[in-house]
Amino acid sequence: MSNSVLKKKENYTPTTNACKLCTPLGASLVFKGISNAVPLLHGSQGCSTYIRRYVISHFKEPVDIASTNFSEETAIFGGGVNLNLALDNLRKQYNPEMIGIATTCLSETIGDDVAMFLKSYREQRIDQRLPEIIHVSTPSYRGTHMDGFHGAVQAVVEGLSNKDFDARSGHQLNIFPSMVSPADIRHLKDILKAFGISYAMLPDYSDRLDGALWSEYQTIQKGGTDISEIKNMKKARASVEFGKILEGGRSSGGKYLKDTFGVPCYSLGLPIGVRETDAFFKVLENLTGISTPDRFVSQRERLIDSFVDGHKYVSGIRAVVYGEEDLVVGMVSLLREIGIIPVLCASGGKSGLMEKTIETIVPEYQPLGISIRENVDFMDIEKQAADFSPDIFIGNSKGYTLSRRIGKPLVRIGFPVHDRIGGSRIRHLGYEGAQELFDRIVNTLIEKGQEKSEIGYTYI
Ligand code: SF4
Repeated sequence: MSNSVLKKKENYTPTTNACKLCTPLGASLVFKGISNAVPLLHGSQGCSTYIRRYVISHFKEPVDIASTNFSEETAIFGGGVNLNLALDNLRKQYNPEMIGIATTCLSETIGDDVAMFLKSYREQRIDQRLPEIIHVSTPSYRGTHMDGFHGAVQAVVEGLSNKDFDARSGHQLNIFPSMVSPADIRHLKDILKAFGISYAMLPDYSDRLDGALWSEYQTIQKGGTDISEIKNMKKARASVEFGKILEGGRSSGGKYLKDTFGVPCYSLGLPIGVRETDAFFKVLENLTGISTPDRFVSQRERLIDSFVDGHKYVSGIRAVVYGEEDLVVGMVSLLREIGIIPVLCASGGKSGLMEKTIETIVPEYQPLGISIRENVDFMDIEKQAADFSPDIFIGNSKGYTLSRRIGKPLVRIGFPVHDRIGGSRIRHLGYEGAQELFDRIVNTLIEKGQEKSEIGYTYI
């Protein structure tokens, strides 16, 4: 063999404790946010078990995610037979209106042609009434849970908006909230209701992943976006899509509706903090022609008043912020409003856009010594964090062990929150979300100072 074939590879450390999650997990959340829909993972059973465990532990709700259950034989001969069987079983047991299929690493690696399998499945059952079947390709070795999430939103919009308009419903605004908490989704719905605008929100898992106590097991929880509403998205007056990285980086449901049906799309940052929330309210004012209702104006005023009250506790504080890119960008916006320096902004995502996007929010990020790192794991974050002497960590539960080793407190946001209760109820969006985040950050810092105090003061 020639030398070029036997070239020695540099030593490298593989990912250690990834700062991202599995791609089909994001897709499964989208399918859980659609009425009478069931997620089906095409691949090994372990993938679905891992995702269910992760999602249940955060949301504290039962979460069914079906699997085509690959074996050694399937990995060699392909998963077509398993897929047919799984679809038949799901139809029999759940009678769903939609089955959302996400492909796992294994089925992607062996190159299963799911589109062809589905074509033949439909042809063989031409005389049967089938649910909508939507497939999204989600190889986890190529992306993060956010890629799976946005990919699934787009696949659902593409798959359903080409169906006939459903005259029983119709709405003015499409809203794509991104992967936010059930409390955030409810808050957004409250805002839209106050503006009197009819909308379809995709996804909406605020009931299915944060519902009431059941007396009997429900195979499919109530709630979620109506399939008829998704079919009608093409006739809406406009779409609003949250995510600055999404805006610059990839195709999306909103962009598809704009390019295919001419529905104008407003791409905004996640409305975290005053500036980004103002931008969202401005769009709603323009679309509806009415001014922001008084109660939101009051929320904004109270928020700014509290910023003044708490400024002395946060000014100049150094934070490490990590998680999905758009959440990090949104948090950076809030942190700069309140005087915190996000010295290290880190994500396992690798859009190549995080630094450029943060620069638009914090043009002076270099003189402030802010480091922006994409495509990193928690080992990278820990190594770099130690050099930055942070006062606080802000991110999901996966960073707890590192914040513990460094001896600084962690404010839990985003997903997953596995070591606390109430992950579904964390609010990030709107003036009220910013208020909650601000209070939690300030109180965490005060608590840390109080713990360290020799006199144990009771008054600040
Ligand atoms: S094998 Fe791939 S799809 Fe399955 S759980 Fe792991 S990362 Fe996710």
